[in-house]
Amino acid sequence: MPNAPNPRDNQSMSTLIAMVLGAVLWQAPSAPAAPTGDAASSAAPAPSVGTEIKETRPDKPLRIRVKLARGTIVAGLLASWDDDAFSGDFGRIEWIELTPSEFKRLFDKVMDDRDPSHQLRFAELLVAVGLDAPAESAWRKAASIDPSVKSRVAGSREAAKAMRKAWLERERMQREGAVQDFAEDGAAPRWPVLTDAERDAALAAMREDAKHYSAMAGVSVEPIETDHFILISELKPAETKELQKELDRMYAQVLGYLGVDPKVNLFWGKAVVFLFATEDRFKAVEAGAFQNPMVGRPGSGQVMGLCHMMKERVFVNSWRCPDYALFGSVLIHETVHGIMHRYSTPARLPAWADEGFSDWVAAQFQSATVEQARRAQAMQYIRSGGNLVTVLDMNYRDGSWPGQNALGYAVGYAIVDAMMREDPGKFEDWLRKVKGGMPWEQALQDACGLSKRQLASNVARFFSTRD
Ligand SMILES: [Zn+2]
Repeated sequence: MPNAPNPRDNQSMSTLIAMVLGAVLWQAPSAPAAPTGDAASSAAPAPSVGTEIKETRPDKPLRIRVKLARGTIVAGLLASWDDDAFSGDFGRIEWIELTPSEFKRLFDKVMDDRDPSHQLRFAELLVAVGLDAPAESAWRKAASIDPSVKSRVAGSREAAKAMRKAWLERERMQREGAVQDFAEDGAAPRWPVLTDAERDAALAAMREDAKHYSAMAGVSVEPIETDHFILISELKPAETKELQKELDRMYAQVLGYLGVDPKVNLFWGKAVVFLFATEDRFKAVEAGAFQNPMVGRPGSGQVMGLCHMMKERVFVNSWRCPDYALFGSVLIHETVHGIMHRYSTPARLPAWADEGFSDWVAAQFQSATVEQARRAQAMQYIRSGGNLVTVLDMNYRDGSWPGQNALGYAVGYAIVDAMMREDPGKFEDWLRKVKGGMPWEQALQDACGLSKRQLASNVARFFSTRD
């Protein structure tokens, strides 16, 4: 739902700020594909490649106690094993489910050292779990046992490479799946975890979009890619270079606030970020690529950045106003909207937290004019006995957000600030529940043990003695 600046608003500083930062456009509101289930089941089964070993039984059942990579301990009698797995009264377990060191130890125990096929398979599995050096030694042993095996080593190496790739894919998908564990009730549909092939396709599609949307607006610069972003920049090279680093650093930091492993890529492919030197270029992209006539409408105020969330795709459009700190702050604010959209589910936070968290993150990087103005406005409201519940109740839907003089932005920012300073872990818990589809007030009760009124009075108390 467009959260558009209101053309009738006056042009006071805080209103202007609201217009600058408040614009988030939801085109085609977010209906991700049906969840594909847990990561393991949506991953294609690893291709059966490499050296085969038929079912082999140890001379007598072997009592084992091993640790799986996901942390579980498996104990019992190992009755048989083959090239893929070992079995016993605990069931059948794939070799690559073990931690690398446990795999090495157990396989070494069951294999016949003088069997070249065992050595080849050992090497392949070692590479699969990331142990390259011992793999080399196993390949050497295989060839020294039987020189005719040398001809099989090249094929074995190829297989090992493919197994490593499959292992990395599986590991990544499990890690990404874990980000969504909390949304177990399925109240909000999760973004699907992509396979390597799907990720490659998503990235290719975003690269195409970046070019296509640039062309629609008459922009022809070479895209620059960072770990998580595709930048279309007409800024000075030195500034672009700085932003390249800054955006990825900010991404990692935001994931830290969310309690998510920063190695996880939340975006569908990457997010496209347009960085223009002039407002005209920014508007050209809004009009030409996003069919957004709102920008540039007379009296609509000056908009400096927008985040477009188009189902799974994220685009940020911005232009560098003369105040570099303000520009940086807007860019971060809008990008945080994109990250939050892709965090587990498209479920949206209540307005005060949606905007408050974006501003709060921006303030961690740029203590710009915007943040100072917001803080001053919030303190004045809170200390003069203003009702925080009114702000907690404001929403995009009925148009009550952001209130007079953009009060919602100022107070939303202050509430998030208080929550993050008091207990970031609780805020994180609360976020997860809301993203999982729980109504935000119920989530507040569950995660923080607070009612809406109690949150309001806690925040008021927090700022009665502190800035
Ligand atoms: Zn915003």
